[in-house]
Amino acid sequence: MKLPSPTTEALQRMQKVELHCHLELALRMSTLRELAANQGHDVQTEGVFESEFLIQKPMGELRDVLHKFLNTRDVIVSEAWMERIAFEVCEDMYLESNVRILELRYAPSFLLDHHTSMKADRLQEAIQRGVSKAEALYPIAVGLICILQRTNSIEENARWVDFALNHRNGFVALDLADNEVDFDPEPFIPLFMRAKKGGLGITVHAGEPLIPGISKNIITAIDGMGADRIGHGLQAIENPELVEMLAHKGIPLELCPTSNWLTGATPSIETHPFRQLHAAGVQVTINTDDPGIMCTNLLREYHLLAFHQNIPVSVFEQCNAWAFEASFIDEAKRRSVWQTNTQCQQS
Ligand SMILES: [Zn+2]
Repeated sequence: MKLPSPTTEALQRMQKVELHCHLELALRMSTLRELAANQGHDVQTEGVFESEFLIQKPMGELRDVLHKFLNTRDVIVSEAWMERIAFEVCEDMYLESNVRILELRYAPSFLLDHHTSMKADRLQEAIQRGVSKAEALYPIAVGLICILQRTNSIEENARWVDFALNHRNGFVALDLADNEVDFDPEPFIPLFMRAKKGGLGITVHAGEPLIPGISKNIITAIDGMGADRIGHGLQAIENPELVEMLAHKGIPLELCPTSNWLTGATPSIETHPFRQLHAAGVQVTINTDDPGIMCTNLLREYHLLAFHQNIPVSVFEQCNAWAFEASFIDEAKRRSVWQTNTQCQQS
């Protein structure tokens, strides 16, 4: 039986948790245009800006996706811009999608390796200023996740683990991102063990591309790296034992439907394993990944699942309850912005 789709208003009103969003790829569209124009890109001719910066249909080659990531990275030329970007991401998340708990992740090396005039401490302080400004204006609790890049050496990444551990007032967790096909996670195990010992939460991009056998990275992330959550992890669906293990251990998956479709991880939103994983008892959560360049927001992700998979509001509420518990942000801070059922009914 097809259930009636939840109304826009019901989905908008629902308070939400966003656990998987890359700060450098979450720019407000008008800001990305402004930055691109500042760096001499043609933003006037119809279609040029879109083809250089945006991902609006599935990309055949991961290389093409990465190329667009780099274009966006290249136009963020100062710490001051990152302060503005951080503020705007938080503001848009709250105003457009009623996000109350927001974890933003970024790879310091991704920006700093290209922009040598930027400095890590100044960058982190600028981002925190942007975030604090939003937290003062809106009922939103924000935490940052430091990303290690698989494509960089272990030695270089070790420096970023130290950086994250030395900035515990901002960073709540550590993540591993980039090409998981050509760069195995095993060499990173000691770094993640150190971060976990130091009190950081652990989330790892694993089991994302549609490649047979890739779900082994999810097992390494959990058993070897101490992952509390998995970034994407949708390919777990290829291994029933793993699905059972995720459900049994209560390891949440940070699913990102639009991104998973655009990168070819799933052929369509209809075929995304969200529903199957949920039915198997896996704690699935809904996220945006790269909302700026993938032209989405969290509310839209809910709409897509409601429309294409017939997901009812009660399931979305359960996803948010799991995401609330799985967030690495301090519990008192989370509770201060999260309305209980009684408060919701009164307001
Ligand atoms: Zn991601």
